[in-house]
Amino acid sequence: MISVLCLGDFCSWNMDLNIINSICLLSLLLIMESINVLIIGGDPEDKKDMVELVEDASSFFPTEIWDDIIYIGKLSLEHDFKIKISRESYGAFLFRRLIDRMKGIKDSTRLVSLLLGITADPIVTVYHFFDETSFKKAIYLVHDYVNKKVGVVSLFRVKEDTSSKLVAHGLGHNRGLRHHAEPIDLMYYELLTAPTLEVDGFCKLCRRKLRDEKPDLHPHPR
Ligand SMILES: [Zn+2]
Ligand SMILES: [Zn+2]
Repeated sequence: MISVLCLGDFCSWNMDLNIINSICLLSLLLIMESINVLIIGGDPEDKKDMVELVEDASSFFPTEIWDDIIYIGKLSLEHDFKIKISRESYGAFLFRRLIDRMKGIKDSTRLVSLLLGITADPIVTVYHFFDETSFKKAIYLVHDYVNKKVGVVSLFRVKEDTSSKLVAHGLGHNRGLRHHAEPIDLMYYELLTAPTLEVDGFCKLCRRKLRDEKPDLHPHPR
């Protein structure tokens, strides 16, 4: 059960732009299939764990997909919400606002390849709907959203042994993969509640799509 305690309009961020700019220049010089990792919130010592997590996630992909994993920095961001789950209260980020921040950072730093934000905090999205007589509000946790340019992954309440799989799932979206029901692999639509994976990684079809995403390496007739 999820309920909103309060909604504040005080979201602010700050980060070391010097670090970003210098890494950005470096990134521009590299072949542009790197994963630029931004840690959102949490403790500074999370860095090693988070970067290792992305390394583990990238190991599920064919070796030619990702050239590099670059740690960009830490984004200090005030929470937008407090949510209450089983009587525990947690600071949460509003999905739409967080994605807009990520796009702003990517544009201002002129990063060419993927900017991936990872947080241990909850990311939530709010839906309003009309229920016969009145408007109602529903709140959902978002665990992964990754497009071609930016993405976020929330590890909130994700088991440790599933974390790298969730990041790999998000990276799969970046490479054009979609959810599916069969077989149960990394792109399974309910990965977080899935029983053991039938395919420990990406299924045949997903792997074919991953190859086709790289037409320069694997040309095929169109
Ligand atoms: Zn997904
Ligand atoms: Zn698949």
